[in-house]
Amino acid sequence: MNILVAGFQHETNTFAPTVASYESFVRGEDFPGLVRGEGVFELLNVNLPASGFINFVRAQGHLVTPVIWAGAGASAHVTTDAYERIAGEIVDAAASASFDAIYLDLHGAMVAQHLDDGEGELLSRIRAVVGADMKIVVSLDSHANVTQQILSLADGVVAYRTYPHVDMADTGRRAGELLLALMRSDRPAQLVARRVPFLIPVNSMSTMLQPARGVYELLAELEPQVLSLSFAPGFPAADFAECGPVVWGYAFDEAEAGRAVQALFERVCEPEEQWAVAFEAPDPAVRRAMRIARTADKPVIIADTQDNPGVGGDSNTTGMLRTLLALGAQDAAIGLLCDPAAAAAAHEAGVGATIDIALGGCPQVEGDAPLRGHFVVEALSDGKFVYGGPMMNGKASDLGRMARLRIGGVRIAVSSAKAQLLDRNMYRAVGIEPSQMKILVNKSSVHFRADFAAIAEEIIVVRAPGPFIADPSELPWKKLGRGMRLKPNGPVFGKAQ
Ligand SMILES: [Zn+2]
Repeated sequence: MNILVAGFQHETNTFAPTVASYESFVRGEDFPGLVRGEGVFELLNVNLPASGFINFVRAQGHLVTPVIWAGAGASAHVTTDAYERIAGEIVDAAASASFDAIYLDLHGAMVAQHLDDGEGELLSRIRAVVGADMKIVVSLDSHANVTQQILSLADGVVAYRTYPHVDMADTGRRAGELLLALMRSDRPAQLVARRVPFLIPVNSMSTMLQPARGVYELLAELEPQVLSLSFAPGFPAADFAECGPVVWGYAFDEAEAGRAVQALFERVCEPEEQWAVAFEAPDPAVRRAMRIARTADKPVIIADTQDNPGVGGDSNTTGMLRTLLALGAQDAAIGLLCDPAAAAAAHEAGVGATIDIALGGCPQVEGDAPLRGHFVVEALSDGKFVYGGPMMNGKASDLGRMARLRIGGVRIAVSSAKAQLLDRNMYRAVGIEPSQMKILVNKSSVHFRADFAAIAEEIIVVRAPGPFIADPSELPWKKLGRGMRLKPNGPVFGKAQ
């Protein structure tokens, strides 16, 4: 077989401040930069679904025709221009090339400026040119809001089973296995899907913790009874009708698929309050962290979840920095604070200089502002380093000019490009050894756990002012499906108050 392969990933927080332009995809941000054709093969050592798929099907003796791989960090909508250019390349290739099947490495929560269901629309355009008989398999992020259109237009859809997403390549391999199983069979696979009637906060989706861990353990137990079984807890910051978690599966026998899906669905839904999250406010969280740090050997890690660029933040809010300074925290570090002007000022002044600047600040966030102060320039870097943690191991990164600034007892890893703080090497890029700090503030929600849990005395999830509203019931929803509960056991959307 010759299989057409394309990747187009974006997680869209429709409430976030900044859109994803074509340039965002060219840079890649949290992902590798855009590659075309044979260039896709340069990604084969990176933990990505497309690499897992390609390595697997090639090992089975099949050929691959790569079209494009394009991903951008989470943000507000994908611009019409970026969507049309990238989707257009994929559809053109599907229309012109000669091949036997298609694999798409997609996120599943893409909203473009001109359409709500980015992936469903892409599939519908591809179907229009390849016809109903062409087998199409898709892998999705577990933060996918899986739509009816995606499920009905693809022959097979699978999703990540870990968050932090350490199984991206493995998910691509599972998509490959599903494709080969579908191609071998002369019976069509039957799909069964069930929509979960409440939004799940991102912070309670971590598969290193309960209840998500147990849900995926049950999934693995049930899956041998069917062809494929999946659960996507969704991305609860995309305002469109089909935002929310979905359980789905395939079997050649519809009743078998139905039984497995139902069992997993019940495990997800009961009890609903298992998904509720307790957040702390900055002040008590930092006080508690300082108290623990007095006697701890390892750093206390604070997740500044509402400014996580992995869910649409710009990685520039100053709320946690202010709190650390106000409480006199010592041996604390915060990363990444994305501020290209501050990085430039530090590089101009040089190591050892003190610069008087207004650092960071997200203008769209109420309660946030730049922090004016005197910062000591302690180290400079060109921002080029390689990820060493389990999630993006081996990915070369370029965050532009970086600097280590110090104010009071706090060291700040400043970058010129935004990226989620999920790898210890992001601190090391400016000479901070994270395990030597007393307190670390990571602008991340969950992904940092993959590389930081082992060095953490304790992890505290904090809500400082930021563009990502971690409690979905506090978002100004307009287009959500009527009847959805806005959080576990939360208020029902569309119901008269
Ligand atoms: Zn994700």
